[in-house]
Amino acid sequence: MKKHYIKRRHHLHKGLCLFGLMGLALLLTGCGKTGEKTSIVLEPLHYKMDALKPYISDQTMRVHYGKHYAGYVDKANQFLKGGGFEGKTADEIIVLTAGKKEYTAIFNNVAQAWNHAFFFTCLKPDGGTVGGELADRIIKSFGSIETFKQEFLKAANSRFGSGWTWLVLDGEELKIVTTANADTPIAHGLRPVFTVDVWEHAYYLDYQNRRADFVENVLNHLADWDFVSSRLTSAK
Ligand code: MN
Repeated sequence: MKKHYIKRRHHLHKGLCLFGLMGLALLLTGCGKTGEKTSIVLEPLHYKMDALKPYISDQTMRVHYGKHYAGYVDKANQFLKGGGFEGKTADEIIVLTAGKKEYTAIFNNVAQAWNHAFFFTCLKPDGGTVGGELADRIIKSFGSIETFKQEFLKAANSRFGSGWTWLVLDGEELKIVTTANADTPIAHGLRPVFTVDVWEHAYYLDYQNRRADFVENVLNHLADWDFVSSRLTSAK
C-alpha cells in the first residue's frame, strides 16, 4: 500500500518541456513547485467487486466503494480546490485540519477517503491467518490471537453510531482504538495497522443490524494479514 493517496501533478513541468533548455533551467531552480496540485485519488481495488462474497456482497461493494468512498474522494477534491493545501499529502492535510472548525468539510472528506482506501486494502478473499512477527506482537499485547479478535470485536460493538475500529501502533505498542465518524488515528499521532469500517453502510445490506457478525467475518475470512504484517515492518 502506498504511504498516502496523493498524486502531485506537475502540469507546469509538462508545459515547460516545450521550452527545452529554458524549461530545464527553470525546473532546476525549483519553479516547477508552483505547478503542484493536490488531488485525492480513488485507489483501485486489488480484487473484484464480487470477490469478498459471501461475507461482503458485490451489491455492498458497488455502493460502498463506488458511491460512498468515491463520493468522499470527489468531495475532498472539491473542498481542497484553492484551499491552500497544494502539494500536501493526505496525511499532512488530515493533521493540519483535525479539530479545526473552519476545515471540517476538508477534514471529513480527506479522512474518509484515507480511511476507505486503507480499509479496502486491508481486505482480500481468503485473507489467511495471523503469523510471523505480527502473531508474536499480538500475543505479547493481547495474550492470544483469539483474545485480540474478541477485544477487537468488543471495541467494534461498543462504538456507538458511525465510525471505525482500528489496530494501531502507538509508538511500538499495538493497541485497539475506535474513532467516530470520519476521525482517524492519523489525526492522533497513531499509525493505522488494520481497520474495519463500522458505519452501517459497510454492512447493512448484508447483515442489517448484525454488526458483530460482519466484523467477525472480516476478522476470520477477509482480513489480509500479510498486508497488516507489512504495516508493522514499514513502521520501523
Ligand atoms: Mn464506509
